[in-house]
Amino acid sequence: MARLHERLSEVYAEVLDRNPGEGEFHQAVIEVLGSLGPVVVKHPEYTDAGVIRRLCEPERQIIFRVPWVDDSGRVQINRGFRVEFNSALGPYKGGLRFHPSVNVGIVKFLGFEQIFKNSLTGMPIGGGKGGSDFDPKGRSDGEVMRFCQAFMTELYRHIGEYTDVPAGDIGVGGREIGYLFGQYKRITNRYESGALTGKGIAWGGSQMRREATGYGAVFFVREILRNRRDSFEGKRVVVSGSGNVAIYAMEKVTELGGTVVACSDSSGFIVDEKGVDLDLVKEIKEVRRARISEYVDYRGTAHHVEDRSVWEVGCDIAVPCATQNELDAADAASLIGGGCSIVAEGANMPCTPEAIGSFTDAGVTFVPGKAANAGGVATSALEMQQNASRDSWTFEHTEERLAEIMRGIHDRCAETADEYGSPGDFVAGANIAGFIQVADAMLALGVI
Ligand code: GLU
Repeated sequence: MARLHERLSEVYAEVLDRNPGEGEFHQAVIEVLGSLGPVVVKHPEYTDAGVIRRLCEPERQIIFRVPWVDDSGRVQINRGFRVEFNSALGPYKGGLRFHPSVNVGIVKFLGFEQIFKNSLTGMPIGGGKGGSDFDPKGRSDGEVMRFCQAFMTELYRHIGEYTDVPAGDIGVGGREIGYLFGQYKRITNRYESGALTGKGIAWGGSQMRREATGYGAVFFVREILRNRRDSFEGKRVVVSGSGNVAIYAMEKVTELGGTVVACSDSSGFIVDEKGVDLDLVKEIKEVRRARISEYVDYRGTAHHVEDRSVWEVGCDIAVPCATQNELDAADAASLIGGGCSIVAEGANMPCTPEAIGSFTDAGVTFVPGKAANAGGVATSALEMQQNASRDSWTFEHTEERLAEIMRGIHDRCAETADEYGSPGDFVAGANIAGFIQVADAMLALGVI
């Protein structure tokens, strides 16, 4: 990465000093600051008003104890987090992650990314994120419910339709949002649909929210292909992960004529040259909550590989949809060697800085998560719109809105990259376009 502008390196030094040991947060910050050099030159008013320094410090950070009783009667203690990062554009908005790796640094990296992602959607939402080190793997339904109730017993006082609106992320899907919403309703005695998104369709949720992140990432890639006068027809695609984002990215790729040849989970990856059978993946992952390795028991055309990287499978387009820093420089080299020409991040920050550098050097089009995976949170904002007007839209209408939003994000990133002297650079385009909208709002609202 090029050297930081002097005023930005001061900000970065302050971030390192105030947030020791939070590697993922540092990584997310330097990635944005690395794009802002031309912006601080053109707009000294941002640094003069301390906008970037203020942006790097969360408005509020909440850490709390979550005590609950497991099926064998033992008291369990987890840690809960909510980082309310920036509310210049609207109420804090962002998911909750339940995973043993969750700590304050991870939540801060996710919350920081969320500010720019949410800004790019063009919807009135600020940035936040939360979660817990609770591991839902192997837990019974009853344990998950009691955990969610205990978590909400503290969180409820910090959230609300006009304050902070959580949703899902890794480990938090429809089931967990149901238990969380139930407890919020019970404690507050209010049917406040707008306090959480990702709800079930029957009780205030939006059509297509479940599909939105994966579909949105594929819509973004479709725009890139369209500008090359190309399409998904005949393309080989590799997706990592097999959770919510991965499954619906694979579904849309297949619908648009591409062939998904591989996907993965923490147990390894499967390759199916005939194209991944999505009904089977959904049955294994969504219904049985089992391992992807079971896939090969049902499909003779497939094989399972352990202890190696899914990125060794050659493809035209790669969509990492698992987790942060899952794709490193060696993986990038495999992808480039295999002829990959587009990488779009379905997860948050799945590519390491070294991998991104390799893609840029090799001329691979790279789309960062804050642009490529913004369809999920954008559809959450559509859910909030429907809740506010007590309305519910059809699947088709919602999908049309999502496609429009993703086209808008693509165009804004591309135009901004051109304007600031980095044509074709979606990292610069996303960071600068996302930043300017928040920075202008912060300037307007004064030093708060
Ligand atoms: N967790 C998702 C994200 O990373 C969705 C957040 C939301 O819908 O609020 O953007």
